[in-house]
Amino acid sequence: MHSPGDVRVDETERPTIVEPTDAILRLAATCICGSDLWPYRGTDQVDHQPMGHEYVGVVEEVGSAVTHVKVGDFVVGTFFASDNTCAICQAGYQTHCVHRQPGALPGAQAEHVRVPLADGTLVATPGMPDPDLIPSLLAASDVLGTGWFAAVAAEVGPGKTVAVVGDGAVGLLGVLAAKQLGAERIIAMSRHEDRQELARRFGATDVVEERGDAGVARIKELTDGLGAHSTIEAVGTQESMMQAIRSTRPGGHVGYVGVSHDVALPGEELFFSGVHLHGGPAPVRRFLPELIRLIWDREIDPGLVFDLTLPIEKAAEGYQAMDERRATKVLLTF
Ligand SMILES: [Zn+2]
Repeated sequence: MHSPGDVRVDETERPTIVEPTDAILRLAATCICGSDLWPYRGTDQVDHQPMGHEYVGVVEEVGSAVTHVKVGDFVVGTFFASDNTCAICQAGYQTHCVHRQPGALPGAQAEHVRVPLADGTLVATPGMPDPDLIPSLLAASDVLGTGWFAAVAAEVGPGKTVAVVGDGAVGLLGVLAAKQLGAERIIAMSRHEDRQELARRFGATDVVEERGDAGVARIKELTDGLGAHSTIEAVGTQESMMQAIRSTRPGGHVGYVGVSHDVALPGEELFFSGVHLHGGPAPVRRFLPELIRLIWDREIDPGLVFDLTLPIEKAAEGYQAMDERRATKVLLTF
């Protein structure tokens, strides 16, 4: 991304092994993230930035210290590299690893990437995936893992009513995660018909079109005036965060994974809400083995969030489609 709104596909050098813990991957597919729209729209600064952080592919080369993955493995990685051995990783918070680094260098919207800390970061699939599984495995790299963490952080479980704020890929896959984790009722907040339909397919039992205070009032109406037990926040704005907190009953939990942009929480309201807050950059690596298994066994189909597939040469068109909300999530092929 040369500057906001200016995406170009350039020829660059193939990355090479720098550290003995690195691996080089040839990617099978990559995609555009909702968070890539922050710089695209000029909200975040950008200056000739290689883009992309979601990736699956085949290991083409490994450094001398890499032992868990080998050349020829098909692997799924995540947006931060982690050693998976430090105390923070062992506690399941690999996105806060003491050795945390970017997961795919120079950026995952490319044919080849260098992955640091390959042993800790990459998880191999049981074999070469059928081509139709690749979108779902790619979803596991970020949006599925992030939606899943949001559901876990919101303490979703059997008997619970879950509200989901945000109908992008992460929110939609938060619905899927809530369903898998046994939620009794899942209320998707969305005003887009095609996204509502996908939310229902992933397990939403109710759809609320209102947002802000009106959305909160609808959630209260649907929950005997109490609010949801668990709320997934998958946007990252002041409005969405307050909508999530106010939609949650006292003692309930908010899992927030929308990348926070100028959110300022009012202390007094928070104090009297009695709501638990937990979230941040999702430790997708914690969930990868289980998510890969669910996809491999065809128990879930998170790849359905990709509603536009383009060759990488047309990446700029993909950004435009997502910016204009003509596409929920764009898959890029080589
Ligand atoms: Zn670590």
